This record gives sequence, structure tokens and C-alpha cells, in this order.
Amino acid sequence: MYPIGIKKLIDSFKDLPGIGEKTAERLAFALLNFDKEKQTNFIDAITEVRDKIKKCKICGNFCENDVCDICLNNNRDKKLIFVVEKPKDIYLFEKIGIFKGTYHVLDGLISPLDGVNPEDINISSLVDRIKNDNTNEVILALKPSIEGETTMQYIKKILEKTDVKVSKIATGIPLGTDMEYIDTLTLELALEERKNIS
Ligand code: ZN
Repeated sequence: MYPIGIKKLIDSFKDLPGIGEKTAERLAFALLNFDKEKQTNFIDAITEVRDKIKKCKICGNFCENDVCDICLNNNRDKKLIFVVEKPKDIYLFEKIGIFKGTYHVLDGLISPLDGVNPEDINISSLVDRIKNDNTNEVILALKPSIEGETTMQYIKKILEKTDVKVSKIATGIPLGTDMEYIDTLTLELALEERKNIS
């Protein structure tokens, strides 16, 4: 049996997505073999993320202050909001660098079977933003799945009585694909070919 400290480390790695027993063991031993300085850097990085990273009050993106750099940037079009599921999705679109609006992170998708209802994700804050900023257009970039589709239809419905144009990025992306597995070119085309939700 492993000493309890090593066992704890292995179990912590196993909490990460896609990491099984064998990989967790490998990572734990790699960390054990680090010199003190590297181990300290590792611990500091995790502590910093825990203590300093917050969520932007406006859009839900990760940031170190109350409001993220994208929301603070006056060159970004505040009247155009790109709605994504997770903060990580923002980085995907930022990498392409062709989107000049702002973002809104839902932090989940509506999934009644899993007990996730509209009030459990950041939809009301999206509606407030749209009212306050006189938003012209909302582009939904949610993954092609039943939950993604349900969420898009819901948002479209609650914005029906407003003048806001609601579109979604073009599909052609296989159902169930997580956004992070979609390549840059596909995302770029999907953004250009956005269409009204039918
Ligand atoms: Zn923000």
C-alpha cells in the first residue's frame, strides 16, 4: 500500500477529467520526483488559482479582479453578446480572434432530467445585461446536444418580445461534440455562417 500522502495525491489527480488510476499514479510519482523548487511552484500555482481567480461580475469569465479584461475593454462591442456554456469556451473564441463583442457564461445547460432548470444557470443575468446595455444581438454558441438545443430554444423564447436578434453559430458540428474538440476553422466558419434559430 502507498503511504497515505501518496494515496491522497493519487486520489486528487483521479478527480481530474480523463485521469484514471494508472495516469494518476504516474503523475503523483512525477511530482514526488520534482525538486523542492518545482514542487513549490506547483503548489503555488494551485493556491493562486484557489485564492485569486474569481468570476467576472458581468459575464462570468475567470479573472483576477471583479470584472474581466474583455468586459473592461472599450473596443469590444457591448451590444453584441456571445453566449457560451463554460468560461473555457471563451478562450476558444478568443484564440480565433475574430469576435469583437462580449461574452456571457451560462455555467451549465438546461437539463431537466439532471435537475438543471433555467433558474440554475446564468440566464436572468443575461436578460438583465441585455436590458441595461441595449444589446442588439445575441449569438448562442452552445454545444450541439439536446441540452444545448433546449437552452437555445429557452433563451430565444424569453427574448422573443424584445428587439434583440438571436442567432446561433451554424451547426454541421456533430451532435454531442464538446466545444473544446471543435477545431478552429470549424468554429470560425460556424461563427461567420450564424443563422436565426428556427
Ligand atoms: Zn467579463
